[in-house]
Amino acid sequence: PRPIDDLNSALSETEKERQGIKVKDAVVHWFKCDLRTRDNKGLHLASEKAKEKGVPLIGLYIVSPQDFEAHLTAPVRVDFVLRTLEVLKEDLGKLDIPLYVETVERRKAIPGRILELLEEWGASHLYANVEYEVDELRREAKMVRSCLEKGIAMDAVPDTCVVSPGELTSGTGKQYSVYSPWFRSWTAHVHSNSHLLNLLDPPSKNPESSRKTFSKLFEHKIPSALENKKLTAEEKKRFVSMWPAGEQEAHNRLQKFCDERIPSYQKLRNFPSDAATSSLSVHFASGTLSARTAIRAARDHNTTKKLDAGKDGVQTWISEVAWRDFYKHVLAHWPYVCMNKPFKPEYTNISWEYNSEHFAAWCEGRTGYPIVDAAMRQLNTCGYMHNRLRMIAASFLAKHLLIDWRMGERYFMEHLVDGDFASNNGGWGFSASTGVDPQPYFRIFNPLLQSEKFDAEGTFIRKWVKELEGVQGKAIHEPYERGAGPQAKKNGYPERIVDHKESRERCLSRYKEGLGRE
Ligand code: FAD
Repeated sequence: PRPIDDLNSALSETEKERQGIKVKDAVVHWFKCDLRTRDNKGLHLASEKAKEKGVPLIGLYIVSPQDFEAHLTAPVRVDFVLRTLEVLKEDLGKLDIPLYVETVERRKAIPGRILELLEEWGASHLYANVEYEVDELRREAKMVRSCLEKGIAMDAVPDTCVVSPGELTSGTGKQYSVYSPWFRSWTAHVHSNSHLLNLLDPPSKNPESSRKTFSKLFEHKIPSALENKKLTAEEKKRFVSMWPAGEQEAHNRLQKFCDERIPSYQKLRNFPSDAATSSLSVHFASGTLSARTAIRAARDHNTTKKLDAGKDGVQTWISEVAWRDFYKHVLAHWPYVCMNKPFKPEYTNISWEYNSEHFAAWCEGRTGYPIVDAAMRQLNTCGYMHNRLRMIAASFLAKHLLIDWRMGERYFMEHLVDGDFASNNGGWGFSASTGVDPQPYFRIFNPLLQSEKFDAEGTFIRKWVKELEGVQGKAIHEPYERGAGPQAKKNGYPERIVDHKESRERCLSRYKEGLGRE
């Protein structure tokens, strides 16, 4: 069975027995990618259960260096998570709820250690929000069953998406693999189930005695860095100021975006130098903000309660946030995308290049294509890249350099502060044409045209490619071809590592060959 079905069957098989379990001394919420107190379903249910019986609620988070390694989590993202945990500990502390953070080196040891902790605390109930990556689903299904063997009820609840995977099927009862009809169905589903946008209260305050009973948990420190995911002092300083942590920060950012930028989002979102997007992806990825809260806030800035009507900016932004749901649905339904396989099996036979010099030039922003280089330098410096640029840089790697898109997917995960498997895999599949609802393989972004269209004045390029700072006018888009070669050369900016026309032809014939087409 698919891992999601196995988890669902573990939950339904054990439901009766779980319901029979009496609340003992504590209820625990296991935080993962949901590092917030507001509008958090698992945490909310855990709090209700604890309140009903007058027992304390405990928050738990397991830091696993091996887990971060396996997920290719970028050091900047790990740092963001650790800083967020500090804020979450403080926020929960105000409610007398301890957040206990323990480091467990091996990921396989996590379930066993959680069971030990639950027994030590006399906890009878464990809550968590479901994550849709294969390993996580498998682990959760196992945990539901092994908790029960110890007389503990575990509930894994769907929370990360506005509409949970499995809720939407096409007229023929199948999972959608094309975004547009899926989005129509998604909006219709939300319109007819308005409770889906009801926001959940933060947890209630714990009994005062919990401070004393769990004093050790309150005092326990959160690690400030991990050996395998360390930042330099300079990087740390930069990222702390670029990506302030915590859910209040997410709410402030959301509010500001809705008040100031959402009206022009549709018009400006594709222009990287305009900073017209929300920059909330880091908060969605770590769960400091729920997608529900975001959609709800956007809707409240519209003239209608409909998600696909009213102001253009609001509608467009909602449809972008919905892409996040879409890719999680894909992951839950077609788990093989987690296993290094293209969504479309016919793309397995493309013969990729593994040119390490080209790959290094792409990673370091030295391809000689200013827009691609500016994009990669933004990623390397900020742990973030604008969406339009992610498409340009990904397409360039897969199509111009013909390098296996999985190498780019991996590099992005290793550097993004908002690295999220489903969205990253979906974005790479889209750009390389190997994924779900991709751009057609014969559509090959021309980096020059993209540059002239989306960074017409070269403002973004000049910001990131210092060697070209002094280049005037349109030459910024292709310095060597438009008379700024000597200046570019003097400053050490490289010439193009591949020719556009030749790469385009090579790409078309290689894709056709792989697909067995004439
Ligand atoms: P906004 O434009 O303000 O959009 C709001 C939110 O909608 C985003 O925060 C994000 O949660 C969601 N969203 C917007 N566009 C997309 C999209 N195409 N796919 C999925 N969700 C979307 N997004 C990630 O969160 N993590 C990733 O690892 C990631 N990797 C990507 C890799 C590639 C090759 C591509 C093409 C896209 C990738 N995206 C990823 C999607 C998108 O680029 C980012 O979500 C967006 O740039 C984040 O900036 P923002 O928060 O200002 O977005």
